Amino acid sequence: MGDGKHRMGERVMASNGVLDARERSATLSRLATERFDVLVIGGGITGAGAALDAASRGLRVALVEARDLASGTSSRSSKLIHGGLRYLEQLDFKLVYEALRERDLLVSKLAPHLVKPVPFLYPLYKKVVERPYVGAGLALYDAMEGTRRPVPHHRHLTARGALKLAPGLSPERLAGAMRYYDAQVDDARHTLTVARTAAAHGAVVATRVSAVELLRGADGSRVTGARVRNEETGHEVTVTAEAVVVCAGVWTDLVHELAGVRAGYRVRMSKGVHIVVSREALQAETGVIVRTEKSVLFFIPWGERWIVGTTDTDFSGDRSEPVATEEDVDYILAAANRVLVRPLTRADVIAVYAGLRPLVAAPQGNGAKGAKPTTKVSREHVVDVPVPGLASIAGGKFTTYRLMARDVVDAAVADFGRAVPASVTDQVPLLGADGLAAVRAGAGRLAEDYQVPRATVEHLLDRYGALAGEVLDLIRADPGLAQPLADGHPYLRAEVVYAVTHENALHVEDVLMRRMRLSIESADSGTGVAAEVSTIMGRLLGWSRRKRAAETGRYLDLVAAEQTAVVGSATVPGTVLASATAG
Ligand SMILES: Cc1cc2nc3c(=O)[nH]c(=O)nc-3n(C[C@H](O)[C@H](O)[C@H](O)COP(=O)(O)OP(=O)(O)OC[C@H]3O[C@@H](n4cnc5c(N)ncnc54)[C@H](O)[C@@H]3O)c2cc1C
Repeated sequence: MGDGKHRMGERVMASNGVLDARERSATLSRLATERFDVLVIGGGITGAGAALDAASRGLRVALVEARDLASGTSSRSSKLIHGGLRYLEQLDFKLVYEALRERDLLVSKLAPHLVKPVPFLYPLYKKVVERPYVGAGLALYDAMEGTRRPVPHHRHLTARGALKLAPGLSPERLAGAMRYYDAQVDDARHTLTVARTAAAHGAVVATRVSAVELLRGADGSRVTGARVRNEETGHEVTVTAEAVVVCAGVWTDLVHELAGVRAGYRVRMSKGVHIVVSREALQAETGVIVRTEKSVLFFIPWGERWIVGTTDTDFSGDRSEPVATEEDVDYILAAANRVLVRPLTRADVIAVYAGLRPLVAAPQGNGAKGAKPTTKVSREHVVDVPVPGLASIAGGKFTTYRLMARDVVDAAVADFGRAVPASVTDQVPLLGADGLAAVRAGAGRLAEDYQVPRATVEHLLDRYGALAGEVLDLIRADPGLAQPLADGHPYLRAEVVYAVTHENALHVEDVLMRRMRLSIESADSGTGVAAEVSTIMGRLLGWSRRKRAAETGRYLDLVAAEQTAVVGSATVPGTVLASATAG
């Protein structure tokens, strides 16, 4: 552990939640020299949430993420913060109740800049049977929300009313619709913001650092930290902690193996694929949710695009880069086309992405023949303490990450032998939430002060909340940074700089796939601006010309590999299917 003075200094330095990629070596040396109460393995939403939960209880926390924050499942979800209507049907009332409470807390208090209400239309095709059934479900959904109602209630619509809101739906067989509200989020940005908020409470957050071995105390009974590897250099150091918390998603079983423990559950991987299409592909003012044979299909508004999905199939391939297959894409197109006036074709597809749900299964059930289909496996989370000093968690949903984090930290600190405060994260707004209303109200003045269009300020407020001024300050210092990065997209060059200086972006793909979402939003997956991003990053990170070219090449290779994987056997030539590594 560093001396008290040094640690205080570091904590103050970290107190604004800046994750500066240029400070990487200082961060890594803190990992090696300080003594932590809790070491979190995994920088998806669960790990970022656990780091924030523990740090905001006053604990000394380190978080190591093997790749980039949110590079696993937490950037590849449907991006909904929702109760999950279909879990009602599975009678999973507890999950729905908790998720709705979390949704409302995020929308109203913890992250109003990131989590926004979104309306959905639920078309009805069997009037007599469906309306009372779905209506009752939605009434229950609304009732579970409680009395605060930050999200409007559902409404019944006639077929005519439904078509007015969504003329792109086929009128054939349409008997009416329900309109209800849920919420949506940029999952990668939310995860990053939770990690930054953890850093603001003193957590040391290190990316591209893998846990490669779990350490035991002298008598071998307790886990006392981990050996971690800097994935950029191969250099290894020891991190000492009173407890290790495993939030490794679909990698959880592998981390349990590192520890030589057999946990009370295994993780079953279920692949979910989404396609991205332009807003013109479906004329509708609201999102749409339709029933499919196995589950539901969402049309989710996403800026100038729709995200459409998802699938739910057992998976056993490479968990680092799950790819969508032709069958996945065809399944989504066929399910969508059942309800659309103008059928979608492969030519409409701008991008495809795949993610892996870390579902919990009993040890013997994992991958076994005759196992339950993954659509029916519970989305609730499970916490286990397989050996003293090691707590692990899996399952759950993005929406319930705060509760998952609380539960796993509770388990980790249970045998500390001293009082640890209870979780306070229901009272800890994420960075950018504090003061948001006033900053939003003053958007016009900000635009004038910084001499940028009002739309630019709105764009920044949506992504950074009350911290938008930090990006605007970069523009004031260098007006060239106000230029858009890519034609037709709202991202600014200043945001590339900010990604490095405040958001710990170390590689071009960190920027194009997660700090921004050009990899899934742009028809060329952001390849056209990769060199420009590399140049901007290179200036800050001291990259040589060769390193800049290598970084650009690395991004192009990533995208190309994914396109080959998806388009490899495509039957329709000319289809543009972009990177499946993002989203
Ligand atoms: C297709 C799909 C759609 C979904 N839609 C929704 C939705 O709309 N709403 C919702 O609420 N939920 C949704 N979910 C679920 C939600 O996305 C996941 O539950 C959540 O993102 C899981 O987060 P996590 O942190 O547990 O895992 P991950 O995000 O995968 O994080 C685990 C991290 O651990 C790291 N790691 C692994 N091993 C090590 C190691 N040895 N050392 C260091 N780091 C390590 C990995 O690199 C990874 O970043 C969806 C999931 C999928 C797949």
